[in-house]
Amino acid sequence: MTKGSINVSVDNIFPLIKKFLYSDHEIFLRELISNATDATLKLKHLTRLGEAQVEYGNPIIEVKINKKKKTLHVIDQGIGMTAEEVEKYINEVAFSGAEEFLDKYKDKLDGAGIIGHFGLGFYSAFMVANKVEIITKSYKDEPAVHWVCEGSPEFTLEPADKKDRGTEIILHITDDDKEFLEDSRIRELLNKYNKFMPVPIKFGTKEETLPLPEGADKDAKPEKITVDDIINNPEPAWTKQPTDLKDEDYKNFYRELYPMQFEEPLFNIHLNVDYPFNLTGILYFPKLTNDLSIQKDKIQLYQNQVFVTDNVEGIVPEFLTLLRGVIDSPDIPLNVSRSYLQADGNVKKISSYITRKVADKLKSLFNDNREDFQNKWDDIKIVIEYGMLSDEKFFEKAQEFALYPTVDGEYFTFEELQNKIKDSQTDKDDKLVILYASDKEAQHSYIEAAKAKGYEVLLLDSPIISHLMQKLEMNKEKISFTRVDSDHVDNLIKKDDTKISKLSDDEKKSLEELLKEVIPAEKFSVQLESMDSDAAPFIITQPEFMRRMKEMQATGGGMFGMGNMPDMYNLIVNTNSELVGEIVSTKTRKKQERLINQSLDLAKLSQGLLKGKDLTEFIKRSYEMIK
Ligand code: ADP
Ligand code: MG
Repeated sequence: MTKGSINVSVDNIFPLIKKFLYSDHEIFLRELISNATDATLKLKHLTRLGEAQVEYGNPIIEVKINKKKKTLHVIDQGIGMTAEEVEKYINEVAFSGAEEFLDKYKDKLDGAGIIGHFGLGFYSAFMVANKVEIITKSYKDEPAVHWVCEGSPEFTLEPADKKDRGTEIILHITDDDKEFLEDSRIRELLNKYNKFMPVPIKFGTKEETLPLPEGADKDAKPEKITVDDIINNPEPAWTKQPTDLKDEDYKNFYRELYPMQFEEPLFNIHLNVDYPFNLTGILYFPKLTNDLSIQKDKIQLYQNQVFVTDNVEGIVPEFLTLLRGVIDSPDIPLNVSRSYLQADGNVKKISSYITRKVADKLKSLFNDNREDFQNKWDDIKIVIEYGMLSDEKFFEKAQEFALYPTVDGEYFTFEELQNKIKDSQTDKDDKLVILYASDKEAQHSYIEAAKAKGYEVLLLDSPIISHLMQKLEMNKEKISFTRVDSDHVDNLIKKDDTKISKLSDDEKKSLEELLKEVIPAEKFSVQLESMDSDAAPFIITQPEFMRRMKEMQATGGGMFGMGNMPDMYNLIVNTNSELVGEIVSTKTRKKQERLINQSLDLAKLSQGLLKGKDLTEFIKRSYEMIK
C-alpha cells in the first residue's frame, strides 16, 4: 500500500480561481473594498486594545481610476502589511488573514465586523486584471514593500518608498474588462455593494455650495468648494439601537434604500439578535397592491454591511419576501449554494426568528392602536393571510390580530365574529355559517338581502382568501364560509319557522314540468323553495364548493386536478312569491314562457351573467313590454 498526500499546486489552482471561483466578475471590487475595510477595522481594534501605538484618526478608503494607464486603484489607510505578512497572507492562496485575526482576538473582540473569511477574495482581482500590484506599509515600524504579480504564480517582492501607513492595490485592467475603467460603472458597483460599508469610501470629488452667511448681500454669490465624494453611509440605521432611532429616522432610511419609491412604508420591524446567531436588520411593511409578483425580492441581504444579494429566498420565509428592508448577518454562509443554504441550521433558525418577530410586531400594533391597525388592514392583509397559509406557527399567532371586516367597515377578530353570530347564523347541522361577499358592487342585491335578515356579511376580497377559508374550515370546528350569492340565506340558515308553501303539491308538480321544458338543464339545476313572499321569485346561485375550487385553481391550487370545471348554477324558484303564483295560474303557455324567460333574465342580470346577444334581446323585449 502506498500512502501520500495529494499535491495541490498553485500552478493548477490559479486559473481555476480566475475562472470559476466567482460567477460574477464585478464582485472583485466588493472583495478589495472588503479587504481595505478589514484592514482599517483591524487597526481600529488594535489601537483600542493598545496593541498598535498609532493615531487611528479618520481613515477613509479611496477608489481611483487612471484611464491612461488603464489602472484601477483601491487605497486604504489601514493596518498595512510587512514583507513577511505579504508572503504569508497574499502568497499563500486560501489562507485567510481575516480568520486568523478573529481567532487570535476572539476573546477580546465582540462583533468585530471583520468581513474576510475564506482567504480567496484578493485573487478575484485576477478576473479583471492581468497584472496586480500591492504597495503596502505596515503600522509597525518596517519598510514599505511592493508586490507585483502578472497572473502566473510568479511574483516579485521588493522594498518601496511609500511613507504613509496603509495599502494601495493597483489593478491593470484587461481589455476585455475595460468597463471597469468607466466612472459610471464603478459608481454603480460602489452603490450596489458598498453603500452601507463601515469605513467612508471616496470616489472622486464633488462641488458643494456653501450656505450664504447671515446678513449677506442679496447679490452675493454663494461660495463653492470641492469636497471628497463619499459614496457610502458608514452608519446605516440598522446598525444602531432601536432606542436611538425615531420614526423619522426609519422613514429616512427607507428612502435611502429605495430612492425611487415614493410611497411611505406602513411600519417597520427592527431585528436585533445576538444569540444563538447574529442578525440585525430592519424590515418594512410596504403598501401592497394585488399584483404581488412585481413586489417581491426587495429585501437586501448584507454581511457585515457588505451587500450580498437581494435574493433572500430560503433565508426569509416566502410570505415575508413581500416586505422590504435589510437583513445583515455574519452567520449566514454567503458564498455557498442556495440548496446548501436551505438545509443550514442557522438559516432555519433565522427564518423562524424573523417570523416570530413579525408576528410579535403585528400583535403589538394591534394591541396598541387597534383603529390604526384596522386602517392599515387592507394594505397588510395579503402578507398576513399568506403567512397564515404557509406557516403553522404564524397561523396560531395570527388568531389574535387577523381581521375579518364586514361590508360596512366593521372589523372582527375570528373570535369576536364567532361570538357575534353564534346564535343567529347556524345551519341545520349546527355549523356556523359565515356569510361573505367578494365584491360589494357585483353582489349588491345578495348582500342587501342577507343584511335585511339581520345577518353579518364579511367583505373578503384578497386574491388568496379562498385558500385561507379552506384552511380555517379544516382547522376550526364546525364553520363554513358561504358567499352571499352561493346559496339563498333562507335555505342556509336554520330558522324555527318552517315555511308553508302557498302552492299545492299538484301545482308544484306542473310548475316543475314547465320549468324543465323552458330552462336548459345543462346550465341550471332548478329547485323549488318556499321562501318569504318578498324574496325574489328567481334567484341564481353558484354553489360555494364549485366556485371556490375554481378560484383556488386560478390562484395556484392546481393540485386539485379539476381541469376545466363547467359553470353550473342553481336556480332557486320561490314558490311563495306572487310572480311565481302568477306563472302557475296563467292560462296560455306562451305567456307562461314569456314570464319565465323574463324572470330568468332578471335573475341572470343580477348575477352579472346576462351578456351579449341575450342582453340585447332582453333589453329589446323589455322596451316592448313597457310601450
Ligand atoms: P480574506 O479576506 O478572506 O482573509 P483575502 O484573499 O481577501 O482573504 O485576503 C487575504 C489576506 O490578505 C487578508 O486576510 C489580509 O490579511 C491580507 N490583505 C488583503 N488586502 C489587504 C489590505 N488592503 N490591507 C492589509 N491586508 C490585506
Ligand atoms: Mg477578503
